Amino acid sequence: MVVKVAINGYGTIGKRVADAVTLQDDMEIIGVTKRRPTYEAKMAVKNGFPFYAADEEFIKGFEEENITVKGTLKDLLQMADIVMDCTPKKCGYKSMYEEYGKKAIFQGGEKHDLTGLSFNAMANYENAIGRDYVRVVSCNTTGLCRTLFPLDESFGIENVTAVMIRRGADPWDSKSGPINAIEPVLKVPSHHGPDVQSVMPNLNIQTTAVKVPTTIMHLHSVVVRLKGETTTEDVIDIWDKTPRVKFVCSKHGIKSTAQIMELAKDLGKKRADLFDIAVWRDGVHVVDNTLYYYQAIHQEADVVPENVDAIRAMCNIESDKMKSIKKTDIAMGID
Ligand code: NAD
Repeated sequence: MVVKVAINGYGTIGKRVADAVTLQDDMEIIGVTKRRPTYEAKMAVKNGFPFYAADEEFIKGFEEENITVKGTLKDLLQMADIVMDCTPKKCGYKSMYEEYGKKAIFQGGEKHDLTGLSFNAMANYENAIGRDYVRVVSCNTTGLCRTLFPLDESFGIENVTAVMIRRGADPWDSKSGPINAIEPVLKVPSHHGPDVQSVMPNLNIQTTAVKVPTTIMHLHSVVVRLKGETTTEDVIDIWDKTPRVKFVCSKHGIKSTAQIMELAKDLGKKRADLFDIAVWRDGVHVVDNTLYYYQAIHQEADVVPENVDAIRAMCNIESDKMKSIKKTDIAMGID
């Protein structure tokens, strides 16, 4: 069975999910939508994706720019098995997907309540099997779940305190900021802790956040009180075996997010995307059962493989999470 996937919103996340789905042999992109005739719309057509207007009112704008439109989102939905909603938060398309009887995957900007299931492949793949609506959690929540879930499974976690040092804007975004300031999120906990709990409900986690003037990656400083007797080597050993967690090391010249993104360029992936969570191996320290570590998140990329796994679970293609993760990662060149 080859699952027919529609992308609603060919933007930062949508175009990456479209490429990741195209690399899999058990799913295919049957069309993508946009509202405006931007360079991304032209790239979608150039990349060979059947192109649809998000609504009838946008067709004229595409025609004026000589972008051939096959129809509207409603036409696309009729042919799809599942739609990836990659629109900005709160666009409110769910009722349309319900009307057309289509499964849908939403992104991390949406609230947990929209779908009732917030997804991370390692932590709760099984819960998504056969479901109609799933939300793939945000880039920061995905990063925290990737490293915390295997620790909780192996050692048990007493509590977590994490500081999110967040990029001010995506690299393409010339409107957001700050550009010359450090901006704390004054609400405590920041939304990230409760969001991790939407995936790992029994985890005792507190988070705070600050925005900093960079476009390259988020950085997390994490402190974990573990339940069992553990050493630094034990923790490193667990993450060595965990998919989508990659060690970097200062002695190899990786001292900041700048060098991680340079490494991602050298790895040769499209758009220099790093789908793994980068953990500093020489920043992992266990002292008296308390673990300290730093990890960096490529915000535009880490959620992409989770979207592919969510399709497989929801469309009943694969019931074994490790088989799905492995299949996704091999196709996407994640090692
Ligand atoms: P984006 O602005 O880059 O792309 C959104 C796309 O949706 C655009 O192509 C636009 O044409 C389309 N669209 C459809 N209906 C729209 C409407 N009513 N208003 C405006 N645009 C509409 O957004 P993005 O960064 O890809 O974010 C999409 C979702 O992914 C959000 O929930 C966001 O929180 C989440 N997310 C984003 C990042 C990131 O770093 N950008 C990371 C993880 C999750």
